[in-house]
Amino acid sequence: MSTHTETVQPLLGVYSRPDLVLERGEGPWVWDDEGRRYLDFTAGIAVNALGHAAPVVREAIGKALDKGLIHTSNLYRTRPAEELARVLVDQSFPGQVFFCNSGAEANEAALKFARRWAGKEAGSGRHEFVAFRGSFHGRLFGSLALTDREAYQAPFRPLMPGTHLVEVGDMDGVETLLGSGRVAGVLIEPVQGEGGIRPVPHDFLRELRTSCDRHGSLLIFDEVQCGLGRTGRLFAWQHADVVPDVMTLAKPLAAGLPMGAVVLGPHVAEAVEPGDHATTFGGGPLVASVALAVVRTLADPEFLRGVEARGRRVVAGLEALRGRVSRVTDVRGLGLLQGVATDGPVAPVVARARALGLLVVSAGSDVVRLVPPLNTEPELLDHGVGLLEEAMA
Ligand code: PLP
Repeated sequence: MSTHTETVQPLLGVYSRPDLVLERGEGPWVWDDEGRRYLDFTAGIAVNALGHAAPVVREAIGKALDKGLIHTSNLYRTRPAEELARVLVDQSFPGQVFFCNSGAEANEAALKFARRWAGKEAGSGRHEFVAFRGSFHGRLFGSLALTDREAYQAPFRPLMPGTHLVEVGDMDGVETLLGSGRVAGVLIEPVQGEGGIRPVPHDFLRELRTSCDRHGSLLIFDEVQCGLGRTGRLFAWQHADVVPDVMTLAKPLAAGLPMGAVVLGPHVAEAVEPGDHATTFGGGPLVASVALAVVRTLADPEFLRGVEARGRRVVAGLEALRGRVSRVTDVRGLGLLQGVATDGPVAPVVARARALGLLVVSAGSDVVRLVPPLNTEPELLDHGVGLLEEAMA
């Protein structure tokens, strides 16, 4: 064996991980390889919406495996993908669905569909995109170009051209850009996640809808992190009652099996033709079966009311914490997507929380993000907030 393989971790160093090896999980708990237990408020970065080893997920995986079809390619029809697409459309807005394998892929596909629509419907000069300060849409070349993080973009320029980042709330800026007649789509997270857990004001979402309609651009909502029940509604845009032309989904969709989706309104879907886009794995029978079980669970109104109530409980706990911990500058979010903003870097808080048995992840450098499983017992939510306070003290 070469010295290189003996001394260098074989996993590529694109993450700086703590020295913690996770081995097992159940509900909101995970255990490391030394048997230590952690309350998991990272939940795979808002992926494990039903917690670890959820019975509904295990059952869906088991049933799908019993049929023997993990993957078929998209050259053939399979029932789970068709059923899942039907449920997503029924729960959101009329249209059609494209399945892929991640959030970034969903956004890339949405950009392509928007370009296709624009080329056919609105004149081929319409190819640009508008996104917002504080955004995160993924790490591929299109989604990265629309992500407001200089450190992520800088080493990889040139990125996709024709992109603009505008301040959330700057309607004049949006109007000027859309008025140019060159913008195919406006991409926004109804609640910004990685950028610091910032709910976008509902009025602004409504004004974007009006502006897009007036100028003939598509409104694209990135619900990769805030969607699928996380905010107490199945989709975060439902709080503002603003229906997009296109919506992207991923994280919790298949309970941790890789899956993304794009829901396209009929006017956009009509512009897309065979061969315009494709993926080998997207919407395979195993992932789609699991997603079907997940979405049906998350869409249950009683489940969503439970998320709302849990969200209120976490906010009450965090507001009390804010009253006691002076370095906390803000508590913000929606439902069980909550951020605790502080007056400095939160990396030490995240590390101390871990040492106390609580897993949390930052959102930007100065915000602690809380994204527990949506079915976490209320007492455990309180317990987690208590551990966070200890870590911040
Ligand atoms: N969009 C949003 C809002 C996200 O939060 C993320 C990931 O954090 C992405 C897109 C990218 O998703 P993925 O990491 O699955 O590519």
